[in-house]
Amino acid sequence: MRQPTGMKVPLVDLGAQYDTIRDEVVAAVTRVCDSQRFILGAEVELVEKELAEYLSAKHAVGMSSGTDALLAIMMGLGVGPGDEVITTAYSFFAAAGSIARLGATPVFVDINPATFNIDPDAARAAMTSRTKAIVPVHLFGLSADMDPLLEAVSKHGVPIIEDACQAFGARYRGLPVGALGVAGGLSFFPSKSLGAYGDGGLIVTNDGVLAERLRLLRAHGAEPKYVHKIVGGNFRLDAMQAAILRAKLPHVSQWFEARREAASRYRHLFADADVEVFGVELPVEPQDRWHTYHQYVVRAPRRDELHAHLESHGIETAIYYPVPLHRQECFASLGYSEGTLPQSEAAARTALALPMYPELTEEQQAHVVKTIAEYLRMS
Ligand SMILES: *Cc1c(COP(=O)(O)O)cnc(C)c1O
Repeated sequence: MRQPTGMKVPLVDLGAQYDTIRDEVVAAVTRVCDSQRFILGAEVELVEKELAEYLSAKHAVGMSSGTDALLAIMMGLGVGPGDEVITTAYSFFAAAGSIARLGATPVFVDINPATFNIDPDAARAAMTSRTKAIVPVHLFGLSADMDPLLEAVSKHGVPIIEDACQAFGARYRGLPVGALGVAGGLSFFPSKSLGAYGDGGLIVTNDGVLAERLRLLRAHGAEPKYVHKIVGGNFRLDAMQAAILRAKLPHVSQWFEARREAASRYRHLFADADVEVFGVELPVEPQDRWHTYHQYVVRAPRRDELHAHLESHGIETAIYYPVPLHRQECFASLGYSEGTLPQSEAAARTALALPMYPELTEEQQAHVVKTIAEYLRMS
């Protein structure tokens, strides 16, 4: 056993997980190589079926990435020039980028500071006659507050597109996120809670007509081959990633339990270290939601200094996200000045993601909490 002082704690450790499933992954890869069928095909059809069932959705469409899933949903719903799409200012770029790529205008709204997720009242207030869709992001593995959003759009027929890329398996009022609105995009980027060994994504929806349109869009809008009904793209999930996902899926519920246990250990360790007196705020899990702790994000005073201090003590942490979307250079022409979305800006200054993965040990977590507490007491 290594001494705690020299202990290294990574943010995520994909190798630790691979060690436990190596034989199953190798068998899956071998199966695809032996089949010589690499694009779509049986593996993709099977994983779509299995994932639709896991996510309680009628339809699942395998996609090349989470970004392409979101882009294709917006294409399928006809998002384009002149449209406004409301989304959160505090997230990864993919949803906002997809809106802009289609020539529509992203309308950024602020977050609920407790959950980091879109503030439903702010979203409702931002609706206009041009609103084409609302895109909540279920950030860090916690569902956004969906019912007030669904209610806000119910009279107007505005679709809700969920960015569930960080929230595979997360639940809202007992239901998995993704197909709570019209459609949702998920990501299998390797470090996501269910990660492929390359890029991959998924769309889930209960709308059969939309699902068929998305299947067309995924393959250049062609049906049959070389006969193009609509303009799509190459948004296909490949068979290798599908087979690897099928090998991992039977384990994912157990991995979520391990993440939730690690979150609960953090809560106890931080309580024992009394860090709240220094202004550290821990993630919350509202009663009507089931957090998968894709990321374990705290708020901390002197965040940047703490991040550097932990780095120098072998503890890897991450800043999600240093610049909120409304302040990104590429959106400067939209004219959001500093101070317009204060909760998103505050989150960008204070949020710090701590090491979190199913195989994280109590000893590692104790080292993380002790190092944070010592730093905050000293400074
Ligand atoms: C990872 C992620 C995406 C995009 O997923 P890719 O598969 O990397 O394209 C979209 N939105 C959020 C919030 C994400 O974290």
